[in-house]
Amino acid sequence: MDLSTPIKYLKGVGPARAAQLETKGIFTVEDLLLYPPFRYEDRRNLKSISQLAPGEMATVIAEVRTARAAGFRKKNLGLFEMVASDDSRSRLLCKWFHGAYLESVFSPGQRVALYGKVEFDSYSGELSMLHPEYEILSGDEDEGDSTIHTGGVVAIYEAAGRVNTRMFRTLLHRLLPETPALTDFLPASILHRLELPSRGEAVAGLHIAGGDADVRLLNAFRAPAQTRLIFEEFFWLELGLLLRRAEARKSDGIAFELNDRVRERIKTMLPFKPTGAQKRSLGEIAQDMAQPYPMQRLLQGDVGSGKTLVAAQAAVIAIENGYQVALLAPTEILAAQHFLYFKNLFTPLGYQIGQLTGSMTAREKAQMKKLIAGNYLPLVVGTHALLEEDVDFAKLGLAIVDEQHRFGVLQRLSLRRKGAAPDILVMTATPIPRTLALTLYGDLDTSVIDELPPGRRPIITKHLPDSQVEQAYSFLRREVDSGRQAYVVYPLIDESETASMKAASKMHEHLSKIVFPDLRVGLLHGKMSADDKEGVMRQFKAGELNILVSTTVIEVGVDVPNATVMVVEQAERFGLAQLHQLRGRVGRGAAQSYCILVTEKLNEIGRERIRTLVDSHDGFKIAEMDLKLRGPGEFFGTRQSGMPGLRFANLLRDQEFLEQARTEAQRLVDEASVAGGPPADELVRAAAWVRENWQKRYGLVEAG
Ligand code: ADP
Ligand code: MG
Repeated sequence: MDLSTPIKYLKGVGPARAAQLETKGIFTVEDLLLYPPFRYEDRRNLKSISQLAPGEMATVIAEVRTARAAGFRKKNLGLFEMVASDDSRSRLLCKWFHGAYLESVFSPGQRVALYGKVEFDSYSGELSMLHPEYEILSGDEDEGDSTIHTGGVVAIYEAAGRVNTRMFRTLLHRLLPETPALTDFLPASILHRLELPSRGEAVAGLHIAGGDADVRLLNAFRAPAQTRLIFEEFFWLELGLLLRRAEARKSDGIAFELNDRVRERIKTMLPFKPTGAQKRSLGEIAQDMAQPYPMQRLLQGDVGSGKTLVAAQAAVIAIENGYQVALLAPTEILAAQHFLYFKNLFTPLGYQIGQLTGSMTAREKAQMKKLIAGNYLPLVVGTHALLEEDVDFAKLGLAIVDEQHRFGVLQRLSLRRKGAAPDILVMTATPIPRTLALTLYGDLDTSVIDELPPGRRPIITKHLPDSQVEQAYSFLRREVDSGRQAYVVYPLIDESETASMKAASKMHEHLSKIVFPDLRVGLLHGKMSADDKEGVMRQFKAGELNILVSTTVIEVGVDVPNATVMVVEQAERFGLAQLHQLRGRVGRGAAQSYCILVTEKLNEIGRERIRTLVDSHDGFKIAEMDLKLRGPGEFFGTRQSGMPGLRFANLLRDQEFLEQARTEAQRLVDEASVAGGPPADELVRAAAWVRENWQKRYGLVEAG
């Protein structure tokens, strides 16, 4: 038996159980060893039932007396009741709703471990537990030594089909003593410095806690065995990202020249004096662009901080060096808007600029592609259409990707293949909490614009329940009467998607015919043709519309400084970061702006989320809160966000280890670059391990 032995060959497993284990990703002996318990239970000095007090969380070991579906009246709730008692002869009543399936689980005389919150059941006057976790301690399973389940600190596993926690424990107790030594791939210098247990010790300690184990530490995932595995997981991830970055630096790129002539051109173009943060970011970008390897930089900045202007300056550097620039936008509206913005900036410089989007006709596209391939266009703005294979740049030198998280790593790569090795600048207006930035963009260098252009006033944000939406409308009217414009935003366009949602188009009718019959109310949503969208945007920008009813298509980039009010309906349906983005559509001029969040139903978390937005303007703070309240998977509002699936580590809980892993990985890469010596050997070994294992798992490091 070795680590790669298929699980079905393990004693006590067989094909049926193997199939169930596979549903949890357990295919081999190694997978089983790395299947972490989610909780630990202290069964050393258990209380008897008579010692329990209502309100506490407790484990008891007792014997089943009776177990049956509850009487006639409660039967329709599927209530299942089980009574257990122990040597103290006291009774503990256990109840499960929808518990009919338990009929085949419990029978009188069984010994069971029960874990749950102790309550006082006023109906029967007894101590009770509602939906306790349970483990049958006696039974006909091939369990071997039963003391592994009682009397110590025991590991609790999430069941895999019918493979329950007890069976996991049995299998692992049997497997661990026979396990071939686990090779430790973490560099010895790191193990030593951080005083980490070896991989073998850590895996053993994960499953078998030992007599003097600290259960509180284990349940906080802070026992040395656990933190070693958490650290290790982050370490390989960060090392993979750093290696990718190091490799990119070795490849040949374009060393752009930034001379006085280029500086002069930039100055001619600038409509404002850049802020300090803009200058600093441009400095970092220009320095990268001057290097002979491809730039890979992330430009972060809150909405309205002026990222586009910085990107435009970078574009001038590339263009003046005789190269083409591609600007990728996530939506057609944004592409159209960038097109206009750059046209204004670049026309005085004499640059021709083009646009390529999915909704163009085949002929228009073909023509545009010819111009791109013939090097007639120094700047091309586009959507995903720019990534299509037959788009051939004559001399792509710089690719600017706006709103990166919608593109993902693969598209970043396909962009790189379009030029020999173009510099890449990724812009994101979603402030990314550091933990996510380190995991998702750990291979990029980062610049942050942490300063807004002068003269901006913070947006005033208010919260209104749905029943008072009229107040929002009358406020909106006052602003429009004084010459301002307003947005009204809805979460979804098509009513068929969710009956309860007000469709923006329907509300457009309501607002334009009944609430504001005398005002010009436009409609913008994702299903309109590109021409129609552009038309509406142009009208709104020109002030021909007072109010724009919209879905979230306006979320990014739309820039109309005269718009001072935004009403967001059903605000509870949006992510916090998304609401913050939306809110950034107002407050873009000198006038005081307002955002009114209208909500229907709010639970506790919902209230906290809305409060965060009302109280804070800091995009990073809001993003952190969003991450906390919704978790990393939901953070970007999409599952295909490229988040690596982590086994031990948790981005929210384990940030400190992520930082530590980053530092250690960086140190290893740095020390190894001073040629020769042991660190270089360690890096070679570690890099090979990352390539073989992490690439497979997460596709993090490019082949070769
Ligand atoms: P972002 O893309 O970061 O959300 P934009 O680049 O769209 O921000 O800039 C927001 C607004 O601020 C735009 O109207 C832009 O022209 C303006 N702006 C950018 N930089 C400055 C500056 N240094 N001074 C004044 N206004 C600026
Ligand atoms: Mg922008």
